Amino acid sequence: MNEENLGFKIVKFLETRNWNTLKIDSGVPIILRLKCPGDDSFLKTICTLIGDKGKQKLRIGICPSCGYLAHMDCPDPKWLSNFYSTSWNKLKDAGRAVQVLRKSFASGDFARKDEPIINLVKKILIDKSRYICEIGCGQGFLLKRLERLGFVNSVGVENSRHIAEIARQAGGLRIIDSSFESSSVQSELKKMAPFSLIYCRHVLEHVYNPAEFVKLVSGLQSQGDYFMISVPNLEGAISMACLLYLPHLQYFSKNALQKILENNGYKIIDDSLTNNNEINLVVQRVALRQEKLSENYKVDYFSKIMEKFVKGLGFTKKHYSSVRRLWWHRRMDKGGQASFFRNELVDKIYWRIFSKIIMHKDKTKYPLKSALISNLVSPSIYQRDSSIEIWFENDVEFLYK
Ligand SMILES: [Zn+2]
Repeated sequence: MNEENLGFKIVKFLETRNWNTLKIDSGVPIILRLKCPGDDSFLKTICTLIGDKGKQKLRIGICPSCGYLAHMDCPDPKWLSNFYSTSWNKLKDAGRAVQVLRKSFASGDFARKDEPIINLVKKILIDKSRYICEIGCGQGFLLKRLERLGFVNSVGVENSRHIAEIARQAGGLRIIDSSFESSSVQSELKKMAPFSLIYCRHVLEHVYNPAEFVKLVSGLQSQGDYFMISVPNLEGAISMACLLYLPHLQYFSKNALQKILENNGYKIIDDSLTNNNEINLVVQRVALRQEKLSENYKVDYFSKIMEKFVKGLGFTKKHYSSVRRLWWHRRMDKGGQASFFRNELVDKIYWRIFSKIIMHKDKTKYPLKSALISNLVSPSIYQRDSSIEIWFENDVEFLYK
C-alpha cells in the first residue's frame, strides 16, 4: 500500500452547487463510534479531518474485514437532530405542497422510479392481510403505490413532522412522525406487528447505531417475513461525500450490510437490484441463530477503499502547485485536482472549459463541485495517525444539502 502521506488543506469551498457547509466548532458535543456494528472489530482510521490548528481531530474509520466506513468522532445525536429540525425542514407553502402531491398521487405515474421495487414485490408472496411498514416514508409515494397493489394495512414512519403531515393530508396515509428507534414509535408499531413486509430506503446510512436499528426491525417481524433495504454502496459512493457529507454517518459494502442483517436473523433472498451505486437487498426473517453465517470475507477493505480515495481525490498524480482546485462529480465517484489561476477571469474561463470537457466525456449534465485546496500545513512536524489528512483553515466543515 502507498505509505506516502496523503492530504491537503481546504482553503474554501468553491462550487458546491446548492450544498451548504457547516462548521463543527469546539462547542459541538462529539461521540465516539469505534467499532464495526457487523463484527465488533475496531475500525481502522483511514482519514482524519483536522481543524483548529491541529487541536480538533475527527476520524473516519473502516472495518478492514467487512467494509463498513464511518465517522468515528461524530456530532452527538441530540445536537444533530436539533440542527436538522432548525435548518432542514424549512416549511414551504404546506397547502400548495399538499395540492401538488394529491395531483401526482391521482395521476398514478408518480412512482416510476420505484418500478423495479414494485416488480420485485409482485414476485414475492407477501401476506396482504397483515400490516406492512415503510421506515422513512417521506411523502409516501411507495406506500401509496403498494396500497394500489392491495396492501391496505400500511403504516409509514417519517421523522419530519411537516412532511408526514403533507403526506397524511394528500394521501390519507397512516404515518407516525417520530424517530423509528424511539420507544413511543416502537410501542405503537408493536401493536401492528408482525409486519409481513418492512421497507427501508436510504435510512440506515443516517442512523447512529445500524445494528440496533436492524435489531428493532427484526423484533417487529416473524419467521418468513420480508425486509427490503437499500443503502448507498460504499464501492461506488463519491469519495468526497464519504468523507465530508454530514448526513451520512456511515457507508456500507454489501458484505457489511449482510453481516448486520444475518446477525439479526435475516437471510438474503434477492439482490438483483444491487449495483455499484446502491445496495438493494430483499431479506427474509429466519431463525435468529442461523445454522451457518457467511464466512469472513477475503477482501482487505482498508486497501481497497484507500485505493478508491486516492483516485477519487486526485492523488494519483503529483501536484506541484501549492494552490489548486479539488473537483468531484455529483453523481459518480470521479474526482481530481486541477489548476487554479490567481487571476479571477482566467480562472473562470479555464474552469468553465475544464468542467465542460469532463461533463461531456462522462455524458452527464451534472456540474462538478469543487473546493480550493493547498498543500498540507507542515506535515512533518508531528506524528500522523492516518493515511489521509484533510486540514481546515479554522474549524472542520461538513457539507449538507
Ligand atoms: Zn466489520
